[in-house]
Amino acid sequence: MTPLRLSRRIAALAPSSTTAAGKKAKALAATGVDVVDFSIGEPDFATPEFVGRAGIHAIQAGRTKYTDVAGEAALRQAVARKYLREQGAPIAPEHVIVTAGAKQAVFNVCQALFEEGDAVVLFSPYWVSFPEMVRLTGAEPVFVPSRLEENWRMDPAVLDRLAGGRVRGVILNSPNNPTGAVVDPQDLARIARWCADRDAWLIYDETYDRFVYDGRSHASAAALVSADARVVVTGAASKTYAMTGWRLGWAVGPPALISAMTSYQSHTTSNASSISQAAALEALTDIESSEATVRDMLSHYASRRGVMFEGLSRVPGVRCTPPEGAFYVFADVSALYGPLGVPGSAAFCDRLLAEAHVATVPGDAFGEDSCVRFSFASRTERIREGVRRIQQWAARSATPTETSSRA
Ligand code: PMP
Repeated sequence: MTPLRLSRRIAALAPSSTTAAGKKAKALAATGVDVVDFSIGEPDFATPEFVGRAGIHAIQAGRTKYTDVAGEAALRQAVARKYLREQGAPIAPEHVIVTAGAKQAVFNVCQALFEEGDAVVLFSPYWVSFPEMVRLTGAEPVFVPSRLEENWRMDPAVLDRLAGGRVRGVILNSPNNPTGAVVDPQDLARIARWCADRDAWLIYDETYDRFVYDGRSHASAAALVSADARVVVTGAASKTYAMTGWRLGWAVGPPALISAMTSYQSHTTSNASSISQAAALEALTDIESSEATVRDMLSHYASRRGVMFEGLSRVPGVRCTPPEGAFYVFADVSALYGPLGVPGSAAFCDRLLAEAHVATVPGDAFGEDSCVRFSFASRTERIREGVRRIQQWAARSATPTETSSRA
């Protein structure tokens, strides 16, 4: 048999490390080990009951057929109203396409806009899928740094230091996965202006828009979306309403782009699930119930964040800042690499899983090998237990000896 010949495009693809980390944790747990899983990138909450019921009702009512490719008219309207209600942005249904999750929304935007010869700017650390999505179009990702010492600020000034004129887009993600950084309105305005000055697109992934802490608010780019502006916002029901498995997201942008994305989607996946659309419509229209749920989840995340951040901060050799949003602490653990004798974050996470039974995601997946991502989307007792294991493991295995600290 001749070996399987994959396309060059696919052969070059790096598999998702976040998914891989979760798989390792599950494999170890399946052998009977009690694993504390900090690798998870999804809410541990159940989908709200009233939302689930709307899905069941859709099945019972026979709403199980194809819908419009861009989504049911009522759902596009409800997404538009979300941005009017929350951001005062005058979004119309023709600005909206419904997709199978925010991941497909960003992917389809990239497919619609980029090609070989284009450069697309990403703030690093970045969400694991952005560079691959850019590369799959033939374009090149260009990375600009954000730093722990600056609270992972996505600083517009770094864009000015970029050379070259081929930049066709900037992908911004706030609240940020993995760093938790939240862009402030002034920085967002500067980044948008930088893009507009070059006719480059601003693609703004606002998947975690409802999860920000310490009284901060989320700066959305929805108000910048218009027929003439090169701005597109992506979002999802996934995190906000604990609906990751339903696969329901959207993009909001100029009608010409939305119609190009609809055309692309019509030949690939067609509409997002009709059942998920019915459920998301309920979440986006029964505002009283969904706001109560979001408030409740936010207060849980806020207290878990404190437990995770304070616990990790007490481990000698671990450096982190309290995340401003999302549900991850992205901590620099590189001071422990020497004492542990590991070359980087991947080996660090393997050791932590094997020896302390705590699963995490290595920072190299996000472009920052000195760090590790700790998700606090789990119950407070589990966070306390995981942090306790990390503290004991680090004390046992990673305290610099006299020899190694001199080395
Ligand atoms: N963007 C970011 C920044 C994410 O963290 C995720 C999920 N991990 C997504 C998009 C994808 O969301 P969805 O499940 O709606 O496709």
